[in-house]
Amino acid sequence: MIVVLKQGVTEAKRDQLINWLQDLGLRIHLSVGEYQTVLGLVGDTSQVDMDLVSSLEIVDSVKRVSEPFKCCNRKFHPEDMVVECEGVKIGGGHFAMIAGPCSVESEEQIVTVAKAVKAAGAQLLRGGAFKPRTSPYDFPGLKATGLELLKIARQETGLPFVTEIMSVADLPLFEDVDMLQVGARNMQNFDLLRELGKLDKPILLKRGLANTLKELLMSAEYIMANGNERVILCERGIRTFSDYTRNTLDISAVPMLHELTHLPVIVDPSHATGMARLVPSCALAATAAGADGLIIEVHNDPIHALCDGAQSLRPEEYTELAAKVMQLREVVAG
Ligand code: PEP
Ligand code: MN
Repeated sequence: MIVVLKQGVTEAKRDQLINWLQDLGLRIHLSVGEYQTVLGLVGDTSQVDMDLVSSLEIVDSVKRVSEPFKCCNRKFHPEDMVVECEGVKIGGGHFAMIAGPCSVESEEQIVTVAKAVKAAGAQLLRGGAFKPRTSPYDFPGLKATGLELLKIARQETGLPFVTEIMSVADLPLFEDVDMLQVGARNMQNFDLLRELGKLDKPILLKRGLANTLKELLMSAEYIMANGNERVILCERGIRTFSDYTRNTLDISAVPMLHELTHLPVIVDPSHATGMARLVPSCALAATAAGADGLIIEVHNDPIHALCDGAQSLRPEEYTELAAKVMQLREVVAG
């Protein structure tokens, strides 16, 4: 249930109402916007007399919300959420360019790529240290060593980085990581989501291979309901009957998610297509659809990459694409 307050209501009167609702056993999500103050009532609202609340002098309107996601529901929080990561803002008009290799392979590789993507305009570095691989015989990532190499690349370039966590057991290793990624395969690892909800770090939550938007939002809800509101959603392609691309980029997910939630939505055209030559068009399409950022795989030597070389752009290709994205952003934002 959401309660919209009239403009100009005093804090004292607002808090009186909040205390009364809390006494009914509800959690209140307070959103103070420039024009509106909205109370999101989380919990069993069957006890609340809607007519009584509507009749209060300070209340503008009361609505029942049927969606099972509350914390990430735009109805509770009409204004876009801006997620900040070490000075980089994402959402609410702030567009984030995230780039780097699929996997961290060596100090030279990650530092070279980090410098190249920074020069092209990227604000965040990506790189997997713990890799979820379909085959147990494939390169699983450098794990803890990979995280150390990402820190070196950060020191060399000043770029904060995002890297994937696969298991709750690895959490102590991620203390000095700027943003944690939950990969597609772990989107419904509920124990992991719950633990990430207790952190004070931004979480990049990727949509599962075959998950609906509602399921993605329910996963975001796990993180947010545990106290961490800094969630960024990522559309990275879903399984369909497409026969030529790795996945199918669900472009309509971007405007639909923007309607449903106030969380930033970014797009990963690399995993969506699986082919470097298709990445630029899909990246531009995502930008035009209003995405709040792009996460793109870039490798200095894609042919010899240990993971996802076929979908990785070379630094010069990324530079060219980044310039086009920035031009298009001006059109979209303007
Ligand atoms: C990745 O980012 O390298 C990755 C494994 O992505 P996804 O979880 O979307 O497959
Ligand atoms: Mn990858």
